[in-house]
Amino acid sequence: MSSLNGIIDDLTSGKWINPSNNKPVSIPIKKIEISKSLDGLEYDFINETHNSEKILIVSDEYTHDALGLRVFNNLNGKSDVSEFIWKKPHCSEEGVNEIQRASKDYNSIIAIGSGTINDSVKYASFLDKKKYSVFATTPMNAYTTPTASVYFNSYKKSIHTHAATGVYFDLSVLSGCPQRLTAAAFADVICRTTAQVDWLLSNILLKTPYDETPYILLGLYEEEMVANAKKIADGNLDSLALLTKISAIMGLGTFFTGTTHSGSMAEHGISHYIDMFFKDKHPGTSHGEQVGIATLSVSKIQNGILNSKTPPIFHSTIIPDEEIKNKLGIEMVNNVKMQMKNKIFDNKKTDELNTYLEKNWLTFTEPLKKVMLPFEKIWSAMDDCGAKKTPNEADMDLDLYNDALKYGRFIRDRYTILDFADDSDQLEKYID
Ligand SMILES: [Zn+2]
Repeated sequence: MSSLNGIIDDLTSGKWINPSNNKPVSIPIKKIEISKSLDGLEYDFINETHNSEKILIVSDEYTHDALGLRVFNNLNGKSDVSEFIWKKPHCSEEGVNEIQRASKDYNSIIAIGSGTINDSVKYASFLDKKKYSVFATTPMNAYTTPTASVYFNSYKKSIHTHAATGVYFDLSVLSGCPQRLTAAAFADVICRTTAQVDWLLSNILLKTPYDETPYILLGLYEEEMVANAKKIADGNLDSLALLTKISAIMGLGTFFTGTTHSGSMAEHGISHYIDMFFKDKHPGTSHGEQVGIATLSVSKIQNGILNSKTPPIFHSTIIPDEEIKNKLGIEMVNNVKMQMKNKIFDNKKTDELNTYLEKNWLTFTEPLKKVMLPFEKIWSAMDDCGAKKTPNEADMDLDLYNDALKYGRFIRDRYTILDFADDSDQLEKYID
């Protein structure tokens, strides 16, 4: 058991007591291992979680070279194991069917890889009620979540599937992955701050549920991870362990809270907007890269608004039907109405809010400011880690990105700073 696992060992063993309610927390993943090297230890770990099972190892040409062959060689002869090198991996209905066919004579599947391979194996094993484990090849939070992103025709859907049995991180392998992927993983977890501010804001204003469990755990390592951003980019194994641990805890947020809110608010809404509406102008940026750029935009708005000495003045919520038809398409109008249903402020609610904030502005902002990182801190950490920080750095169409900031609030039902800013006429000033 590696010392780099930190608090994660207490989570997999069910020994961690949540200080917010004094109850033990349990997660369905049996083992999460973060080690500088797992070379030669593969059998010990797999024997612990997949004892006497007939196992298929799934990799692609790249991950087979990087790790798959080694895992196979170290298990072969001790476990009942075969391998499948996937020629054209694609996490679509057809791709998942291909994995189901290849694994039909096996009890369990071990994925070697990241996004596509992990999600395809996760979903295929869920459909066939088989166990799956994964040896990671990049740092990322998707290994520890129960969701998979799968294409149906050309639409990407996020599907709730099941948890991995074991998740294994060999940092010497992770350090060899393209730096762009490490930076994207960093960008996809630094959004803790913007997501927490939004989720808490929604809790305070709309009385929606809020759970600080993931943040207590992330708080153990975030400061150190941010301070080590440069070393993470350089592939330093101890620093990569911090990013890996934070990514794993971020992924586990769904198990702690029963929702994805803890790590997915306005910044993720903007990223979804990019994926849904940029169409042929999508610059090919990854989820993490988009989330990172959006996190900086959202952080600037949060810091600007919440650090103000005086409260904003609200008007009732306006849904710009015509603009939505033009920008998002006529088919989105009804969907927008549905998403906005519970976060529309009418005149009465607006008056109440203005009176309340007029009297209590500092008390209102205090808990939010407590969980908010300064914009400059996020900016320089992302810079140190080599992450893309602006639409320009990502070759993204600036007009479309501005639309994402402006209309992103209308495509999801989560109440965020974008709603707060737009209903008080402050959003435009943060859009270039
Ligand atoms: Zn994300």
